[in-house]
Amino acid sequence: MRTPLFVANWKMHKSCEETTAFALNFERDALELSALADIAIAPQTLALSSLVQALRGFPVSIAAQNCGQTEFGAFTGESSPVSLCSMGVKWVLLGHSERRWVYGETDALIASRFKAAIAAGLTPILCIGEKLEERQAGKTFEVIEQQLRAIESAEACARSLIAYEPVWAIGTGETASPAQAQEVHAFIRRLLSSRFSPHHGAATRILYGGSAKAANASELMAQPDVDGLLVGGASLDPNGFAELIRNGVRSTP
Ligand code: PEP
Repeated sequence: MRTPLFVANWKMHKSCEETTAFALNFERDALELSALADIAIAPQTLALSSLVQALRGFPVSIAAQNCGQTEFGAFTGESSPVSLCSMGVKWVLLGHSERRWVYGETDALIASRFKAAIAAGLTPILCIGEKLEERQAGKTFEVIEQQLRAIESAEACARSLIAYEPVWAIGTGETASPAQAQEVHAFIRRLLSSRFSPHHGAATRILYGGSAKAANASELMAQPDVDGLLVGGASLDPNGFAELIRNGVRSTP
């Protein structure tokens, strides 16, 4: 049984005050929807503490958008995974396409962040996905396989999640069709099964991300291998995010 999971990725949107206001507006929906799904919000790093405080006692987990590749050390501008964990952060996005393609994070760096996150007690959500030219060149599965190498062991697989986010669908308004999402999710599950075990393939939650919204959440979540959604733009409004989750859980297989 894979509990549906909906993760809001706010990127660099929302001040600390706006973060707290969102939490106040979202609390009632969170109580209702948490009976049906896990919910997490990833605000910008500076607002993590505001969100931890605002949602204390509510069934919404807090996620970071990245973390450093070691416990502590001389890494200017990074966030220690140990400190994130001790302040109440549960999940961490790693390898988001904006980190890969705007900030040049390599597979090797992402793999070291992934290891450090697990060692610190965070649950990494490994983001993977092909660029448009890679899809057009028939390289989608090759890219996915390469990026998945960040998960090196069955133990690490059991402690992580995956988000399939085709780069061409992120923030563009162009969503992968449910069939396109399902095809890649099924491929990821087969790969985890063959690299680790059928149990790992079957148990790992695989989220879809890329212009998910209330209007398409239902058809995406109806796919047998789509276990949740990673949501950027459509998660910024509390009512809109709640509607998206409501639509998504309604059609969960
Ligand atoms: C994202 O940034 O992870 C994302 C999926 O963004 P959007 O929903 O806006 O495409």
